[in-house]
This record gives sequence, structure tokens and C-alpha cells, in this order.
Amino acid sequence: RASEAIYLEKLKTVGNMAAAFAHEIRNPLTTVRGFVQYLNEGENHKNLKDHAPIILEELDRTNKIITDYLSLAKPSKVSYETLNLTDLAENTIRLLQPIASYKSVNLSVTNKSNQDVFINSDKNFLQQCIINIVKNAIEAVDEKGTVIVEIMRENDNAIVEIKDNGEGLTKEQLKKIGLPFYTTKSKGTGLGTMVTNRLIEQLGGSIKYKSVKNNGTVVQISLPIVISK
Ligand code: ADP
Ligand code: MG
Repeated sequence: RASEAIYLEKLKTVGNMAAAFAHEIRNPLTTVRGFVQYLNEGENHKNLKDHAPIILEELDRTNKIITDYLSLAKPSKVSYETLNLTDLAENTIRLLQPIASYKSVNLSVTNKSNQDVFINSDKNFLQQCIINIVKNAIEAVDEKGTVIVEIMRENDNAIVEIKDNGEGLTKEQLKKIGLPFYTTKSKGTGLGTMVTNRLIEQLGGSIKYKSVKNNGTVVQISLPIVISK
């Protein structure tokens, strides 16, 4: 039966995810264990100062993987309210300004529609999506790069577009984006995009990625607007 096939398919996905998850968690833990074992054997306490940052980094990565994985495995309920999309985007970007400034990245938000755009959506979900996408954009650009967030209206949809002039993706890389644990970063988890796609889907929206290698990336979120009477 169809429902049974879907159930088995889901079970397989969960199993694959768990295996991949265990693998991703085991890597940093093995690294940390190796360092601690080495420190335990060595007599020179200078070792500790040298290796502590790596140990911390690896533990932080484990923590990030667990957090991202949990938000996938145990999604919270959508809590709908009427939101002014520009306000939401502006507030979210304010949270990210320090990260952008640290890299001298120019990060801005504009509403390109000539009026406020209202949606019926979940504030926390959307905020998390924008944070995930903008963080990727900041990570993709060079020092002094540019990340632009634009709000638009297209028919009955509200659009949030996040554009960067960063490293971009090849066609092959673009196909892999959103697959569990696909990352090109040494400290990446490869779960952010997957979480984002899942949240947008839960909100009844859609998401598109366009990218040209060495030329930047555009991520477009589309959500149904609240029609004003
Ligand atoms: P992570 O950021 O931990 O690597 P993500 O799921 O957020 O995981 O992203 C997966 C991969 O997609 C990144 O490692 C990167 O290669 C690619 N990517 C995502 N966003 C961008 C972007 N704006 N520009 C270039 N590459 C990107
Ligand atoms: Mg990311």
C-alpha cells in the first residue's frame, strides 16, 4: 500500500540520518579524545595552551550538530501570527550586524515594495531561516563583501531575497545543497540549509537557491501574504 511504502521510506531516511549523525558526532569526539590522551601522557603543560582552542572548537561543533539535528528530529509546532515582514527582517538583521561587522561585511535590508508586507507566519521559524541563510552569505563573501536582504511582493506572495557577492556554488554543489551533512566548511555542520528548507516547507512557503561560481548566490523565500481588505 502507498501509506506503507511512505512509512518504510521514512524509516529508511531516519535510519540513514541517524547513521550519518553518529558519524558526524564521532569525528570531533575522536579528535578531542586524541588530544586529551596526548595531554594525559605529556608532562609539558604548555601543550594544554596549544591544544585547548582545537578541543573547544571541536566540542562546539559537536554541540552545533546536536542542536541542528534536534530541530530536525523534533520540530516544534508552528505558532501563527500576523507579521510585518520588513520589521521581522530588520530585527533579525540587527542581531547579525556584529558578525557582519567583524568581517567588515556590508549587511543591509530594504523593502522594495511600496508598502508594508504582512504575512501570517511563525516569527521564530522565520527568524531562524533568515539567520541560517544570512550566516551562510556572510561566510561565503570575502572581507568587505556585501549581503543584501530585500523584501518584495509578487502577486499573492511575499518574497525575501538574500543576495551575496561571495564565492558562489558550481552546478554540482548547488545540487547537493540541503542534503544532510553536505558542507564545504571545515567548521560546518551541513545541516543549516536542511533545517531552513524544512521550516519554510512547514510554513507553507517555498525556497529557491540560485548561484554562479565566483559570482555570488541568491536565496529566495516565498511566503503567502495576508491580503488586506
Ligand atoms: P554549513 O553552513 O554548516 O556548511 P549549510 O547547510 O548551511 O551548512 O550549507 C551547506 C553548504 O552550502 C555550505 O557548506 C556551502 O558550501 C554552501 N552554501 C550555502 N550557502 C551559500 C552561499 N550563500 N554561498 C556559497 N555557498 C553556500
Ligand atoms: Mg550554514
